[in-house]
Formats: sequence, structure tokens, C-alpha cells
Amino acid sequence: MRYYDNVVELIGNTPLVKLRNVTAGIQALVLAKIEYLNPGGSVKDRIALKMVEEAEKAGLLQAGGTIVEPTSGNTGVGLALVAQLRGYRCVFVCPDKVSQDKQDVLRAYGAEVVVCPTAVAPEDPRSYYNVSDRLAREIPGAWKPNQYANLANPRSHYETTGPELWEQTEGRITHFVAGVGTGGTISGAGRYLKEVSGGAVRVIGADPEGSVYSGGTGRPYLVEGVGEDFWPETYDRTICDEIVKVSDKASFDLTRRLAREEGLLVGGSCGMAAQAALEVASRAKPDDVVVVLLPDGGRGYLSKIFNDEWMARYGFLDTGNEEPTVLDAL
Ligand code: PMP
Repeated sequence: MRYYDNVVELIGNTPLVKLRNVTAGIQALVLAKIEYLNPGGSVKDRIALKMVEEAEKAGLLQAGGTIVEPTSGNTGVGLALVAQLRGYRCVFVCPDKVSQDKQDVLRAYGAEVVVCPTAVAPEDPRSYYNVSDRLAREIPGAWKPNQYANLANPRSHYETTGPELWEQTEGRITHFVAGVGTGGTISGAGRYLKEVSGGAVRVIGADPEGSVYSGGTGRPYLVEGVGEDFWPETYDRTICDEIVKVSDKASFDLTRRLAREEGLLVGGSCGMAAQAALEVASRAKPDDVVVVLLPDGGRGYLSKIFNDEWMARYGFLDTGNEEPTVLDAL
């Protein structure tokens, strides 16, 4: 019989798939690492597992303990599925701007979700930062992973994502492109690839316009999960050779094309990273191998990026240039 003992064993070892259509006119090989195939549906399963393992080793998380984290999305799902198997309780704290769907996903996995008002200052005791700190202090046996400061986050990518990329490309990867949120992916996988290749692999971060990584001030943007208005401890500034700035519009246009032209229904930060990868690949040599990491799937964005009205409301649809639909012909 061939089976896995539990879903946590399915984390990692995601495949590489060649991008065939959005790469028209580009000679270099462009490969995408498909992280939505992790059991929780995103790259964050990797860090959830590593952060929990290290907390257990350090005695920070003990039998019957509670994981408390301010998260509304992928990290929460990863933590929830690792926690189930090991018998921990999960309490996630999120601002009320987070969609009901996202809260429901976390509750479906058995987590408790505490919703806080968005319209208060970060220092207000009701803000989700302060509420999560208070819960972590007051709940007995509570542990807060803090993905922005926890070095197990980049370490998980140094130990899994990086070696997978090197082995899957048989050492032929020349460029690695990933979006930067906590910076864990780019810092961990990037460091591994630099070390194993003797510095030959070029590491390129993709960042939304407005974020600090590409020289912005924290101006708002709509791509989720990437970009910051502060410098997290999990981001190692010595790894990236280059940061490519990508607009919301370019990110969402390519996200939609990845679904229609490559059969990859992925999230907005994937379109952003892929846009940066196409820019890099268009200046690369024909025998270069550009690998882009796509962090999550697109189901969580159906009412936004994949919804024409939402796209039009923000001016992201080139109105008038849409392809005719069947209804237009009737
Ligand atoms: N995309 C999405 C959807 C994410 O949730 C994250 C993590 N915040 C990233 C990209 C960026 O990954 P990292 O935190 O490792 O920089």
C-alpha cells in the first residue's frame, strides 16, 4: 500500500512547470514552482511546520498549548493543519476588513478567529496587533510564532525550497524570482542557491509599487501578501541582487492570463512575481533557466482579481478592449 501517514507529510516537494504561453518572444526557459499544491494551498505550510517544530524543541510550545498569531490567510491555514495533528489549539486575530470567506476557511480548520476593528490606530488596545499580544500573554500555554521575526521562517526555505529548486533543475537554475512579504522565501531559498552555486544564481525580489523593499514609503497597493511598510527581521538584505517593482495593474493582468493561458489559477502575488520573472527572462540569455515561485492559488481572489466589476472599479480593466463574449454575438 502507498499512502502518507498524515497531510503534514505532503508539505513541500512541489513541482516545476514550464510557462509556455505568457512567455511568447522570450528565449530563456521560465519555470514556475507551484506552491498551491501544498496541502494547505500555499507556500506558508512550509514555514508553519518549521516554526512549530522549532518552538517544540525550544520548549516554547508544549502539549495542549495554544498558537496565537495575527494572520488572516495562508499562514493561519498552515498553522491550523500542523496544529491539528499535534493537538494544539489555534487562535487567529484579524482586522474586520478581512473577508468573511477567509475567516470561514480558518474556522473550517477548527481555529478560533478573533475579529478586531480595522479603523483604529495600531497603538489602540483594540487593534489586532495589541489584541494578539494580549491573548498571547493571557492564555496559559500560548505561543506566538510571529512570522515576521521568526528565523525558522527563512530557515524552512533554506532547508526545503532552496534544495528542491537546485535538485529539480539539476543545478541549471540561473535566476530565482520571488515576491517579498516577510522576506522568508527570498532570504532562505536565495541564500541556499547562492551558497550551492558559488554565487552564480541571481536572486531577484518582486515588490509592489509603494512598498519599502523597492524604495517606497508604504503607500497602499492592492496585491496581497507581499510588500511592507517596515523592514522585517526575516528579510536578509544581503541576498537580493535586484528588486523589480511591479504595479497592481501589471500584477493582476498577468494573474488573469496565468489562469487563461497556462491553466494556473493563482493569487495576485503570483502574477506580480511572474511579471518580474518575464522582465528578467526577456533580458536573460537563451540557455538561462529562470525559476519563479508562485505562492498560492486563485480561489481566494475570485471576488477581486477574477471579478470584472472589481477590476473595473479600480481602473484595472482596459474597458472597450475586452474579448467579445458569446452574449455579444446574440
Ligand atoms: N504571496 C503571498 C500570497 C503570501 O501570503 C506571502 C507571504 N506573506 C508572500 C507572497 C511572500 O512570501 P514571504 O513572506 O516568504 O516573503
